[in-house]
Amino acid sequence: MTVRTIALVLGVSLFAGSAAWAAEPSVTAHKLAPVVESTSFPVAADVRLGGDDKQTRFVVDLSQKIDVATFTLVDPYRVVVDLPQVTFKLPAQAGEHGRGLVNAFRYGLIMQGGSRIVLDTKGPVRVDKAFVLAAAADQPARLVIDLSATDRESFLRNITMQDRSPHTSSKTNISAQPEADADARPLIVVDPGHGGIDSGTKSGGGQDEKDVVLAFGLMLRDRLEKTGKYRVAMTRSDDTFIPLDERVRFARARKAALFISIHADSIPRSEGQAEGASVYTLSSRASDAETARLAEVENKSDVIAGVDLTSEPNDVANILIDLAQRETKAFSLQFARDLVGEFKSTTRLHMHPLKSAGFIVLKAPDVPSVLVELGYMSTKDDLVHLVSADWRARTADSVAHAVDAFFAPRMAGTSGGN
Ligand SMILES: [Zn+2]
Repeated sequence: MTVRTIALVLGVSLFAGSAAWAAEPSVTAHKLAPVVESTSFPVAADVRLGGDDKQTRFVVDLSQKIDVATFTLVDPYRVVVDLPQVTFKLPAQAGEHGRGLVNAFRYGLIMQGGSRIVLDTKGPVRVDKAFVLAAAADQPARLVIDLSATDRESFLRNITMQDRSPHTSSKTNISAQPEADADARPLIVVDPGHGGIDSGTKSGGGQDEKDVVLAFGLMLRDRLEKTGKYRVAMTRSDDTFIPLDERVRFARARKAALFISIHADSIPRSEGQAEGASVYTLSSRASDAETARLAEVENKSDVIAGVDLTSEPNDVANILIDLAQRETKAFSLQFARDLVGEFKSTTRLHMHPLKSAGFIVLKAPDVPSVLVELGYMSTKDDLVHLVSADWRARTADSVAHAVDAFFAPRMAGTSGGN
């Protein structure tokens, strides 16, 4: 097989792997996949909250009747509403401010074919009703969720009585069947952060981190594949949400030789100004306060998306550096240094570009892993870079050079393998 054929075959199998829920595989490899928007999906056109601290009603106007399922999550208190895939055309600020028992809410794609709304509630609540009214007279179809305040004990009791079976589908194991592959070239997993319902951070102009890092990730994949020296797999290649743990499992199941997670940071205006790229490795203790804050923000992805962490074995929070093999840690650090060295000549670096903290996504004990924050969405000059195809191309080249530097000693004189 030519390299090209291998890449093609690989691309197809990757797609099947990374989007196990997709009903119909259709991907245009070199085009940035936009948010799936099709007239065939029901449209959510408007949303209203009414009520007070005792009882609150949440209403969404829909273009047609759909099925909904709700469940609740604790710490923090959330109500999760699962829907078939819906095109959200809600007002721009929808969800940022709550009312009554609801502090805020988020919505978006949780998997191909499935959308989700996550309500952050002020305290423990009970879902009294959740139904969809058919359109009638001049009224559109409406999703109605009625909540009432309850106490923590009742809230927890309700959780244990919840039938979780319909929701486990959102945890479908994307790494279940890595393709058996005779290709001995090292596998690099590129992991664009966030996706779907979790947009990550936002720029002042409304650009989402999830889109910026996906565009970069796709470009990085192309650059790496072009060298012919590596296989590349992406944890996501479209606007789909992937739980943090799932990203780690994806890399481990494929015996990846390197895991590169791509993010973009932001800081609140009140905390001053920061700029440039940083590279992070895993440690049980954050290298400084700002890094601790960042890890906390990035680790919240599953909470934001309404992933039920209580039913997961609790390896996520506790497994940290003590379980990571010494060798993996050393390799991670080495690649991080290679990367910072390359970035020096091509892009702007943060004042302290090499840092570490307890990022969940870096916890694979057997896969050297780094997390790259490309820059700050909140900093004007950084943002100009982040959305520039030219800057992305140059920066992706630097990453590819760092990958070359990292693998060169091990690939020299061998026919591959890791
Ligand atoms: Zn991020």
